Amino acid sequence: MLDLHDYVASIPNFPEEGVTFRDITPLLADGAAYAEATRQITEFAKERGVNVIVGPESRGFLVGAPVAHQMGIGLVPARKPGKLPREVISQSYKLEYGEATLELHKDAIKPGDKVLITDDLLATGGTIEATIKLVEALGGEVVGLAFLIELNALHGRDRLNGYELLALMNY
Ligand code: 5GP
Repeated sequence: MLDLHDYVASIPNFPEEGVTFRDITPLLADGAAYAEATRQITEFAKERGVNVIVGPESRGFLVGAPVAHQMGIGLVPARKPGKLPREVISQSYKLEYGEATLELHKDAIKPGDKVLITDDLLATGGTIEATIKLVEALGGEVVGLAFLIELNALHGRDRLNGYELLALMNY
């Protein structure tokens, strides 16, 4: 059986001293591993009646796009400021140092849409919390959150109480 953990590289002291970075590029580069991750998330999405996927820039696109394609549904990118050319809504959130903002086109989500949010990794949950707020502000219903990896020590899950959460791997 294929073990997805074998396709994650752990890099000590990156991007800074004391942090271990979980690099998912080996998983993306392997056809069988990428397909298996996509299969598991697609199953989770189908069970929840998802009709659109939202992924935060940029690794959220890489997780969400193949699932959307597999299901025959659309993908909506949540982007960093200044990238989306039409009318947007914005949501700022705290990073360990400083602040970040994500944006959605105002017409990207329709009221009643059943949304799956995808990202590569759940750390503190700030990125996903901001993405949830954007989707809900446009009237979408977040019916699931799916990640390749959850970093347990950062307790992002606690901030996302009440949402169905799938993590394919835990560290
Ligand atoms: P959070 O907002 O949950 O604190 O951080 C999650 C975001 O940071 C994700 O979008 C993810 O791409 C990025 N991130 C933080 N740490 C890592 C890591 O170790 N590996 C990868 N691949 N992404 C990370």
